[in-house]
Amino acid sequence: MTTNEYKEMSEKYLLHTYNRYPVVLEKGEDVYLYDTDGNKYLDFAAGIAVYALGYSNKKFADALKDQIDKVIHTSNLYYNVPTALASEKLAKATGLDKVFFTNSGTEAIEGAIKVARKYAWLKEGTTDHEIIAMRHSFHGRSLGALSVTGNDHYQEPFRPLIGGIRFADFNDLDSVRSQITQKTCAIILETVQGEGGIYPADKEFIQGVRRLCDENDILMILDEIQCGMGRTGTMFAYQDYGILPDVVTCAKAIGAGIPVGAFVLNKKTAENSLVPGDHGTTYGGNPLAARAVSTVLDIYKEDGIVEHVNEITPYLEKKLDELAQKYDFITGRRGKGLMQGLIVAPEYKPGEIINTARENGLLIISAGTDVLRLVPPLVITKAHIDEMAEKLDAALAQTASEKK
Ligand SMILES: *Cc1c(COP(=O)(O)O)cnc(C)c1O
Repeated sequence: MTTNEYKEMSEKYLLHTYNRYPVVLEKGEDVYLYDTDGNKYLDFAAGIAVYALGYSNKKFADALKDQIDKVIHTSNLYYNVPTALASEKLAKATGLDKVFFTNSGTEAIEGAIKVARKYAWLKEGTTDHEIIAMRHSFHGRSLGALSVTGNDHYQEPFRPLIGGIRFADFNDLDSVRSQITQKTCAIILETVQGEGGIYPADKEFIQGVRRLCDENDILMILDEIQCGMGRTGTMFAYQDYGILPDVVTCAKAIGAGIPVGAFVLNKKTAENSLVPGDHGTTYGGNPLAARAVSTVLDIYKEDGIVEHVNEITPYLEKKLDELAQKYDFITGRRGKGLMQGLIVAPEYKPGEIINTARENGLLIISAGTDVLRLVPPLVITKAHIDEMAEKLDAALAQTASEKK
């Protein structure tokens, strides 16, 4: 079949919920993807911050193959080996205590919302509790996760959503404080907002939210689905803020391409929320997914992935700052670690720059309405960054000349 035939088949049979970029990707190697026409792309998107280890990690691939030969799925009615191992490793990595594995980030958010409601219900014997979420947040597309996603455009057609959600401004502690009522049971936020436009939280803000939660017995839920797993220079982004959440949600890089997520609770929350019968999943954290998590966490340790992120980040920042300096329609850079955004002036469309970059052999994505998002595999080298900068430079030059 030809490339065009694959595209046509997809358009004919896949529900049209994505405007896909016009390439058919076929295989990955190192930090490059190849399409069905043999074109090679340097991948600074990593399947949306998923493929942390790149495409050629032999240890990861061998572990999955070994697990496929043993058993892929058992259900959660029985114990199994990889899930036991993965739960201990993830609990220790988060600094929290109890893990529930899911199939996706969205499901981790759903679980966290249920935890918060159950916690408040047990404490007060009443329902109708409220959750404070942030404007410009993104937590997923199911009805619960969408309800705490601060984006009217995503929410509008699907109302009524779940009740009792109040929105506050990210990085504005007074705004959060003003939304607290007798009914507040949780505050949910991303430590670094991803889809909303790459906004890292200020230290005083995160610590302030922690304080508000402690003073009012409110659960602090941090969504680290995108910014966690070493991406910002610590295993979890909150570890650079000197606090622990009550609940953290994980997904994306945690399975390095195998669909898996988790919500992880501290002891107090775990002992005062979900019990058998309250929550469940057929697939969640099945042996294959758990083997992926367990192996990913081993590789992070053995290969010093987080240390590497810290070593390489200043170089990426320098290269991006140079581009922002060179082009006046790039009005700034925001980000933390290998989660970076270049802000594009309103007259320019990120989508057009992304297309030009792709034609030049570089995959990047957007965030918000005006940000070029770079979330590469965490194993990139200086040479990869040089190649990215060269290709992005060419794309920006082309964009500049077309606008003239
Ligand atoms: C991607 C993402 C989600 C949703 O995860 P899925 O695996 O797509 O369901 C939730 N929160 C954040 C911060 C994300 O980046």
